[in-house]
Amino acid sequence: MPQDTQVPFRGMLIDGELVEATGGATLESVNPATEQVIGAVPDASAGDVDRAVQAALRAGQAWRDRTWTQRAAVLREYAQVLEDNLEELAHLDAIDSGNPITSMRADVQGAIGEIRYFAGLGGETKGRTIPSGPDALTFTEFVPYPVVARIVPFNHPIKFMSAKSAAPLAAGCPVIVKPGEQTSLSALRFGELVQDLFPAGVFNVVTGNGATAGAALAGHPQVPRVAFTGSVATGQRVAALGNEQIKHLSLELGGKNPLIVFPDADVATTAKAAVAAMNLARCMGQSCGSASRIFVHADVSEEFLAALVDAVSQLLVGDPLAEDTDMGPLAFRAHYDKVTALIASGVDEGAKLLHGGGRPAGLDTGFYVEPTVFAQVDMGMRIAREEIFGPVMSVLTWTDHEDMLAQVNSLDVGLTGNIWTNDISLALRTARRIQSGYISINGTGKRPIGSPFGGFKQSGIGKESALDELLSYGREQSVTVTLR
Ligand code: NAD
Repeated sequence: MPQDTQVPFRGMLIDGELVEATGGATLESVNPATEQVIGAVPDASAGDVDRAVQAALRAGQAWRDRTWTQRAAVLREYAQVLEDNLEELAHLDAIDSGNPITSMRADVQGAIGEIRYFAGLGGETKGRTIPSGPDALTFTEFVPYPVVARIVPFNHPIKFMSAKSAAPLAAGCPVIVKPGEQTSLSALRFGELVQDLFPAGVFNVVTGNGATAGAALAGHPQVPRVAFTGSVATGQRVAALGNEQIKHLSLELGGKNPLIVFPDADVATTAKAAVAAMNLARCMGQSCGSASRIFVHADVSEEFLAALVDAVSQLLVGDPLAEDTDMGPLAFRAHYDKVTALIASGVDEGAKLLHGGGRPAGLDTGFYVEPTVFAQVDMGMRIAREEIFGPVMSVLTWTDHEDMLAQVNSLDVGLTGNIWTNDISLALRTARRIQSGYISINGTGKRPIGSPFGGFKQSGIGKESALDELLSYGREQSVTVTLR
């Protein structure tokens, strides 16, 4: 096999400089399609994290003192950097994460839209006046946090690290962003590209292990605001650290999201939508919003399963860099091992493997998994209860509406939900009963920009991608002036 092209080593953006980790510590970057090492990223120590925190704290006042329109102008340039370098960044993500290059281009486009949205929203960081009687004036002001930690997962690398930093920057906060350790190449390149856009310390990129760099950032006593996106298990650790220090936390965590098919739904359309709602052709189901539990009414289950298998069998699995690829490999070996172990558990626990379950034919190298459909699943099985975060769909059959809703709501997580029916009243009544933060009716989970996103139950705390997120990066300070 020919040697993969190597990605040049890049430093972390800390205090306006591109720096190595202390002692030159690094982590390997592996191309999940070839399993070859393609580069290395700095593995930050707690000391490196502290350096970023001190730089951010120094930079904070001047950034806050800029008008929101001045900050917006910088953010628009930040979005422009993505636009100007779209192809390079999408390529880096494709070779680092295994996501198809077509979907990584869409991720960059999505990030650009979200950054521009928050740039324009900065003027909403305003205060209020409170009736105080004839002899006083009471008003409030929005006071940005002095530094925000932005910890993001591996699945949408450039999109999350760039777009999820936009709201705190627009609100007037310096940011330290830490990408997933498995997919940090694009974050480092982006840090290099925006190095001169911000005053030193306003925007910092720290890479490295979650247990060391991530924990040092989340637990840093001078970081009062932590916005975390990742798994429930890590979210619990971040919450424990944050609660100890009374930090303001927002947590965007995992899900095990239902898609409910009523008997009146058009089966062929719904099956195709179910594949889209799994985000199979975007990131192989490695998406927090993936609709991985399908509850189909018994009257249409046979027809639906046939249509679903037909839809997934049309997906082209292969090289993430090929323009016609729908699905690449999973992002890294440990994750591949986890997903394949969960598939094996489905077989062992008696679910019926209708499609996939193994390695696609002809792809002997790389962390590839076929799109997989299980039928005859029940809520006692691991594949119905655990977030697989891979290309695995578990189909359950129902007859009684109340019993189906009880099963839908029986887990500790509640991120998204999907409903397919032509009866709008039934759809809305069902939506009100689903304990999830985002519901899609007759859709694929696509969200218009500005719609608040965030989970119920253990799927998280707080709302993102909307005004609520912007406002969460400051505190409201009340001032009463006595009129003499
Ligand atoms: P993860 O929890 O393993 O890691 C997320 C980030 O946290 C990484 O940057 C990691 O390095 C860091 N981290 C790890 N341990 C840490 C610690 N002790 N302290 C602080 N930071 C630490 O998640 P992952 O495997 O990268 O991503 C997959 C998970 O993310 C899935 O559960 C998925 O549902 C979730 N996710 C949620 C959303 C959402 O918006 N709700 C979006 C995408 C992904």
